[in-house]
Amino acid sequence: MPFLPDAVINDLKDLLGPKGWSTDLDVLGPHNSEARGKFTGHAELVIFPATTAEVAKAVAICAKHDITIVPQGGNTGRCGGAVASNKQVLLNLKRMNRVIEIDERDFTATVEAGAILQTIQDACAERDFLFPLSLGSEGSCQIGGNLATNAGGLNVIRYGNARDLCLGLEVVLPDGSIWNGLSKLRKDNTGYDLRDLFIGAEGTLGIITKATIKLFAQPQHIATAWIAVPSPECAIDLLALARRHSGDAISAFELLSDFAHTVAVTYLPNIKRPLATKTNWHVLIELSSSRPNDDLQTLLVDLLEKAVEIGIATDATIAQSDTQRKNLWAIREGIPEAQGFEGGSIKHDVSVPVSNVPDLLERGMAAAQALIPGIRPCPFGHVGDGNIHFNFTQPVVMEKAAFLRRWESLNSVIHDIVTDLGGSISAEHGIGQLKRDELAHYASDEKMKLLRAIKTAIDPDGRLNPGKVV
Ligand code: FAD
Repeated sequence: MPFLPDAVINDLKDLLGPKGWSTDLDVLGPHNSEARGKFTGHAELVIFPATTAEVAKAVAICAKHDITIVPQGGNTGRCGGAVASNKQVLLNLKRMNRVIEIDERDFTATVEAGAILQTIQDACAERDFLFPLSLGSEGSCQIGGNLATNAGGLNVIRYGNARDLCLGLEVVLPDGSIWNGLSKLRKDNTGYDLRDLFIGAEGTLGIITKATIKLFAQPQHIATAWIAVPSPECAIDLLALARRHSGDAISAFELLSDFAHTVAVTYLPNIKRPLATKTNWHVLIELSSSRPNDDLQTLLVDLLEKAVEIGIATDATIAQSDTQRKNLWAIREGIPEAQGFEGGSIKHDVSVPVSNVPDLLERGMAAAQALIPGIRPCPFGHVGDGNIHFNFTQPVVMEKAAFLRRWESLNSVIHDIVTDLGGSISAEHGIGQLKRDELAHYASDEKMKLLRAIKTAIDPDGRLNPGKVV
């Protein structure tokens, strides 16, 4: 017996036509599954509108029948934000996947929300532009999902996160009306910034249907190095040195614990260990420049010589080809998959001021060890943004299920330290349902009051993605 009333199903079917909906369990399967297996969707109807007008009418139909909607992009989110129950309609944007315009004079692209991130990157590259948002999931996540979660990724240190890369949005509001905020303006101080409200709202305030995004000149030169560093403290010193030395040409600066590096080089196929030197910490740095005559390789060699001379690096290798560069990135990007081969893992996506990263790592690893003796820390991440994926692998002798039952107690320990260091319990993955209660616990009363007031003002009947974020 379906939980959705026949009337709403029939109205939506009539609106969207045969390509615009499915109740087929095989079709629903991937839309109901969640990557980390922490949540399971139970949607019995997924709809695939093809235009903004169809999204708006579908939202109005659901409002009329008092049915709530869960927006879904590529379903790569980490916090259960795109998971729907059998009483809700799952609205997936995948048919709205066009790159509508690339504007060569304004350096902008206007895209539909369901466009896959990599498709946008490729379309821009074909016209000799860079769209710098880059995530491990870029082959399947959608730009609407990226904006709804304010995704970060690898190049934030240079280009900012999804919010920084967005100029304008078109959004379907909870009553089915359309706010056209598409804009190519870099400056617009006409009142509260509505665009910024919808970015990072995780589908709780409106359904993003189009976006205008910023483009940049393609880099002409890229130089990438793998560096052995004695400690996270040295990594932070190296970051500061590299910033000054390169005139802020750094486009990525990643820190990896040796455990994270070792699981990647052990379990991933066709990966080469970058350095023979044994070290507890590794840095992956990338410099890029769109100036034709820059010599980044020489710049990087000078930087590394200086770093070794003052003792903040012990060894390094510079990629001499695109294949070598890809090998270095494959290590970094393969860690989450490789970590799975060592058993259960408990994860934290946190940020602190860059200078507090060493403190966070030292205190966090000690506290985790005290809570679960034998736990194996696997921290890595975008240290140039102060964002650590503070992951932990189960002790060798512990049952996986017993370890995973400690998820919440370990979260509390780590998040208390993060908060004490002036950090955030969600650096780039968002809140969804995974961290909703923790947000309420760690945020100030004033912040929660404002968040709830915004939700109530824009979605007074709680029609969009209820139970997520606030
Ligand atoms: P979904 O997962 O479908 O949805 C996420 C949230 O956004 C949900 O709350 C959903 O309701 C809402 N939503 C989706 N589309 C819309 C829309 N059009 N309008 C309104 N709301 C919408 N994240 C990072 O930030 N940095 C990383 O480096 C990173 N690396 C990753 C690597 C891997 C291998 C994987 C699997 C994930 C990674 N992620 C990363 C997480 C994830 O890819 C991002 O959060 C991504 O932005 C989600 O996009 P999506 O299209 O898959 O959204």
